[in-house]
Amino acid sequence: MSGKRALPAVQTVLRALPPSRMPLAVVTAIVRETLATVRAENPAVDRDAAIAMVQAAVEAEERGGIVPVINATGVILHTNLGRAPLCEEAVRGVAAAAREYSTLEYDLNTGKRGKRGAYVDRCLAILAGAEAALVVNNCAAALVLLLHHFCGRGKRDVVISRGELLQIGGGFRVPEILAAARARLCEVGTTNETNIADYQRAISERTAMILRVHRSNFYIDGFASSPSRGELAAAARDAGVPFVEDLGSGAMATLPLGAEEPTPSQAHKEGATLVCFSGDKLFGGPQAGIVTGPQQQIAALRRNPLYRALRPDKLTLAALQATADTLLRDRENPDIPIVRMMREPLQKVHARAQQLAEQLTVLGVNAHVVESTACVGGGSLPRVQIPSAAVALQCPDSTEDELAARLRMATPAVIGVVARGEVRLDLRTVLPEQESLLASSISQALGERTR
Ligand SMILES: *Cc1c(COP(=O)(O)O)cnc(C)c1O
Repeated sequence: MSGKRALPAVQTVLRALPPSRMPLAVVTAIVRETLATVRAENPAVDRDAAIAMVQAAVEAEERGGIVPVINATGVILHTNLGRAPLCEEAVRGVAAAAREYSTLEYDLNTGKRGKRGAYVDRCLAILAGAEAALVVNNCAAALVLLLHHFCGRGKRDVVISRGELLQIGGGFRVPEILAAARARLCEVGTTNETNIADYQRAISERTAMILRVHRSNFYIDGFASSPSRGELAAAARDAGVPFVEDLGSGAMATLPLGAEEPTPSQAHKEGATLVCFSGDKLFGGPQAGIVTGPQQQIAALRRNPLYRALRPDKLTLAALQATADTLLRDRENPDIPIVRMMREPLQKVHARAQQLAEQLTVLGVNAHVVESTACVGGGSLPRVQIPSAAVALQCPDSTEDELAARLRMATPAVIGVVARGEVRLDLRTVLPEQESLLASSISQALGERTR
């Protein structure tokens, strides 16, 4: 009981804490929760220790919101770190759309209501080599809309190869998406081998569409084959159903990575009726799902009541519009951060790593440059390995995991990779404008040790 009295009151703790960027109401709630836990678990704790525990809890919560981080993992489209950083023009577009009123659904030519995102739809259609385009929340939503639209009135069968029933990241499983959209999965062929006769045998008057899903995050090597888009298009035409292709990544040009990634325009050219892809994978824009195809079908999708629930907001559209403009200005070498990262020559990445290592050595940090391998990530191009360079950090009196944790606690936080007794910071995914911040975060992290 005497221990219980030793614990300070909420107001006392609040006065003892350093200022926080979080609202007082949030800090107060954390103080209450932490004191209650301490009281329940260890009532003998003295005042200073209790305050220190509360302060640690407050700081942990401060890192719980969305805050900028330096991605030194070498994974370009890191889904946990927000996939694609936007190009400068998109950042400005988002800021303007956020701060001011805009022509989201207003036509300046007529002074009347306009079509949401009409301009960006036109740009996306040009990029995809299609008549029309439509934007929704993400590629998963695009697939749900397509399935919901085409499945119904006795036609619910979606014919798909067993080699394409994949799972993307957390929670996107093709069979489950189909079930959620009340489509009937009609799987054909085998994991490695599916031919056009398998599709033809499965097609009936109940068929709603032929669906092809790009194997974006894995590959099948060895004895494997599937029909060409031309064959699938012909089978779909004969059956009077659409041939829908989920491409996932949305690569707009040939990538400098020696890997083949189908582009939407290639898919359309080879016969896909409707194509869907993500806005924040290889497209390099904001989270979005883009559907491209014939004018009439896209217009019908837009009239589907589900579209109202899946459509994007003005900030997404502003970012997408600027990204599409940037891509259209120079399709082979657009000024898009993830494209720059994929293309940066190894010598340049190496030179940046060298410079950082030298800077750190001057500060007394044990740092040296090592070879590294970057990758695209975000469930794209699993076979591609991009030669890269990293700065390896070691700390004589702490483990690599402790060092990695301290880098995460710095401001801005630095996310590296723990390997072979070191923390490695791959420079390929570090934005050039973050380099000086990176050096300061590292010295903060290492300074903590001596404090
Ligand atoms: C990534 C991916 C998706 C999901 O895209 P989101 O935009 O994250 O919803 C769907 N299909 C394929 C083939 C993918 O690669």
